Amino acid sequence: MSEELIGAAYIVSAILFIFGLKLLGSPATAVRGNQLSALGMLVAVVVTLGSHEIIDYRWIGVAAVLGAIVGVVSAQRVAMTGMPEMVALFNGSGGLASLLVGWAALDMSGGTGEGDPQSAFTVVTVLLSILIGGVTFSGSIVAWGKLSETIPSGAIRFPGQQIVSLAMLVATIGCGVAMVAQPEVWTGTLIYVVIALSVLLGVMAVIPIGGADMPVVISLLNSYSGLAACAAGLAINNTILIVAGALVGAAGIILTNIMCKAMNRSLSNVLFSGFTAAKAATKVEGEVKPINPDDAYLILEAASSVVMVPGYGMAVAQAQHVVCELGELLEENGAEVSYAIHPVAGRMPGHMNVLLAEANVPYDQLIEMDDINRRIENVDVVIVIGANDVVNPAAREDENSPIYGMPIINVDQARTVFVLKRSMASGFSGVDNPLFFKQNTRMLFGDAKQSLSKVISAFKS
Ligand code: NDP
Repeated sequence: MSEELIGAAYIVSAILFIFGLKLLGSPATAVRGNQLSALGMLVAVVVTLGSHEIIDYRWIGVAAVLGAIVGVVSAQRVAMTGMPEMVALFNGSGGLASLLVGWAALDMSGGTGEGDPQSAFTVVTVLLSILIGGVTFSGSIVAWGKLSETIPSGAIRFPGQQIVSLAMLVATIGCGVAMVAQPEVWTGTLIYVVIALSVLLGVMAVIPIGGADMPVVISLLNSYSGLAACAAGLAINNTILIVAGALVGAAGIILTNIMCKAMNRSLSNVLFSGFTAAKAATKVEGEVKPINPDDAYLILEAASSVVMVPGYGMAVAQAQHVVCELGELLEENGAEVSYAIHPVAGRMPGHMNVLLAEANVPYDQLIEMDDINRRIENVDVVIVIGANDVVNPAAREDENSPIYGMPIINVDQARTVFVLKRSMASGFSGVDNPLFFKQNTRMLFGDAKQSLSKVISAFKS
């Protein structure tokens, strides 16, 4: 295959990746985005294989078939709620692949390989692909373990943990410097030390982070897996690996940034501190006004606009189907119904979108936080279904609150708010919620699914 043809095919593949990513931005086009990206990957693999003198295709064939079987079976079997675990495993595989590619690049003999295996550039890029790949691999496995509760999901800490991690990082860099300075002396032996230290560093980086923060960690590890692939691409001088790695690296870091902003926490707070309510919020007091499902029905029956705000409790109650059913009944009754989604509602990015999609809520009824906030004052009834932190007005009003500054859905500004939850307990952040005491709030206590089923029964009778 000529150089020009290979270059052209790689450009086609990169364009497919970029359009694929763009289409992933909306649920309506996401499936096509996935298909385009997969096509891009197929082009990249075929061209890469065609551009080398492969001596024996048998092992490549076995690996491709095995990989395809694992991919298809796991994608078909995974439950929607198990998606973060699956993404963690895929990130880990990406990291491991980059580690192996980097390691193999060191063994390439000068004349036949893509560059001198002992040049400073190759050694540095190999070291980066092994370091980032190793951290991604073991960090993702720990993240998977915490999410699936195969290992304890809480933060695991011990005294001097950060110093041990720092010492390991310094030792890795020291090995790297020795390998770059005298490759012929050190690469053969120190490479094993670097691999071991990288894998240990990944474990050390993720064990002190609590299970509920794992979605942020996974999106960061996703970014790392891209960077590792990029470094491996530089090590073996493969353009499409560099481009694809850079795209994954950038996409992952953008998502991480969005999630941190939506939680009003810095990345260092997520990675190094865990969630701690450092400041004492102003004590919340007042009168709570409970409501029963029949009275809630009477108010809903008269409403002309209703907004549902789902949160983690909807996932716990598995209430998405009854939420959708109530939405349909309200529409039949003439109300305009929409679903307002906060970026970090639930426990993973897109958690609420996934659950509502499973219940066949139309995409065009899903509204983003900023859009709904602009018109929330004109909404007759907001139904908060197991959400708490993401609708806590203390984030707007109480400068002493640990969540002050976190963007929220301003449900308290609607005409009437129903809050569906089982008790007065706080949410993930452990912060009290003044919404429950507001003049226009009615608390519908109980499991969200049961409460909504009762409202639906009232509608039907
Ligand atoms: P919260 O965790 O703040 O609140 C959930 C509420 O659901 C609880 O107050 C609970 O109250 C209620 N609940 C639980 N079970 C039920 C049930 N069966 N029926 C009715 N209600 C129930 O959830 P939010 O979605 O509002 O906020 C998400 C939080 O998670 C944010 O703080 C966010 O920063 C954090 N987070 C999100 C991540 C993501 O990727 N989305 C990642 C990491 C953190 P009660 O016990 O009284 O019923």
